[in-house]
Amino acid sequence: MAWPELRFDNSYARLPAAFHTRLVAAPLPAPRLAAVSRSALELAGIDSARIGTPEFVDVFAGNRVPLGAEPLAAVYSGHQFGVWAGQLGDGRALLLGELVTPGGPQEIQLKGSGRTPYSRGADGRAVLRSSIREFLCSEAMAALGIPTTRALAIVASDLPVIRETVETAAVVTRMAPSFLRFGSFEHFYATGQVDELRRLADYLIAKFRPELAGEPDPYLALLDDVVRRTAALVARWQSVGFCHGVMNTDNMSVLGLTIDYGPFGFLDGFDFNHVCNHSDHAGRYSYAMQPRIAEWNCWCLGQALMPLVAERGGGPDDAKAVLGQWGALFDEALQAALRAKLGLARPHADDAALIDDLFGLLHANRSDFTLFFRRLSAVRAEPATGPLADDAAGCRDLFADRAAFDGWLARYRRRLAIEARGDAERAAAMNRVNPKYVLRNHLAEVAIRRAREGDYGEVERLLKVLERPCDEQPESEAYAALPPDWASGLQLSCSS
Ligand code: AMP
Ligand code: MG
Repeated sequence: MAWPELRFDNSYARLPAAFHTRLVAAPLPAPRLAAVSRSALELAGIDSARIGTPEFVDVFAGNRVPLGAEPLAAVYSGHQFGVWAGQLGDGRALLLGELVTPGGPQEIQLKGSGRTPYSRGADGRAVLRSSIREFLCSEAMAALGIPTTRALAIVASDLPVIRETVETAAVVTRMAPSFLRFGSFEHFYATGQVDELRRLADYLIAKFRPELAGEPDPYLALLDDVVRRTAALVARWQSVGFCHGVMNTDNMSVLGLTIDYGPFGFLDGFDFNHVCNHSDHAGRYSYAMQPRIAEWNCWCLGQALMPLVAERGGGPDDAKAVLGQWGALFDEALQAALRAKLGLARPHADDAALIDDLFGLLHANRSDFTLFFRRLSAVRAEPATGPLADDAAGCRDLFADRAAFDGWLARYRRRLAIEARGDAERAAAMNRVNPKYVLRNHLAEVAIRRAREGDYGEVERLLKVLERPCDEQPESEAYAALPPDWASGLQLSCSS
């Protein structure tokens, strides 16, 4: 059956052969639609009337090449866990091309669509479990206003896939203006292909950052742009307790998007040293390390761009000056995000100490990160009186050391007293930045268990809740609760 209005262009396919390999997806047997994101489909300009039709399922299973698409796997390289890993690439993903939308081009990529020349001995597939996690988290992050690749759909199959156990295959369709990574640039740098390196940078600038083309050195300007966006992105991650899990340079977007959801996690009980990826034995990608690792990754990108900077007469000191901004940019973005979480409209000299001490207490008490900030909006500048009117009870309940919390609370109230906004206005503003609903591991796990039995209803319900993370949703109160005891046993690794 035809789908004439779904029409792709593929500008990446027009880049020289060194950038990619053209190939079609491996057939996915007996595909069935497991999930769709209507808001992502709308962004892509795809008519919701097509959802669930045979052509919809076939296209997003990889079983039919839509009009104008020129499927390809892109090559890239990268540093994995701090070590140069050499050539990687889309080992199980295919770029179909881009859809032209009112908001600009959106690339559509199938993930789990079979082996490519970059599969390095692996099977090219993705399992239903990890596809559901990527799908839900992409859409949850977008709803939180955090830059991210999007997810359009999951198509599932009974095709067996071997991981630690035998699981089943799925294809998750992702969308982003571009899937270019730090590692895309590192690839051409490491292989000494300077013409290709320049071509890639020029492609990125012309298509996504045309305003940089007129800069004295567009390549330094590009580095500056990536540094700024990455610092802003990681500040947002820290502010919602998001741990990426595998911040290798091949998993870092040059557009500053969250990309490649694997063993990610949202903090439940706050722990600076939380490591969500069980394969990460050294804790390189712990919550506390994320900013430093993002900075390290930016230096890798800077190194890769050096031949282009040198062509323009620049040198290492110029790149270092750009990269040297990281600390200040990140700190400023994080402090601003945290002040907003605390409901502090204007900066004050004592805020850093107030925030540091709070995080020390959250860590020592392993207080639930999401619940704490959500409940904090109930606190008033003047303590409410009477035994039934304890406005701070919800927060205090999250601390074993209640006296320590009360000490901090007294300082917080004194700080609130010098704010211009009243309690109600501040509470409303806090509830717009402190989500009530995040994709806790156990919520994803319940949806995955049901989906494995063929019931995709919980994926849909959870998506609906996560699409409005800051709204009170009384019918979905259970999704905002502390994790159950069994959740502490959940283990996530790179295997997906
Ligand atoms: P990741 O750490 O998941 O971002 O993956 C690192 C590299 O391994 C990328 O080049 C992936 O395309 C590739 N890869 C991961 N899993 C598979 C798989 N099952 N089949 C083929 N390639 C894979
Ligand atoms: Mg990756």
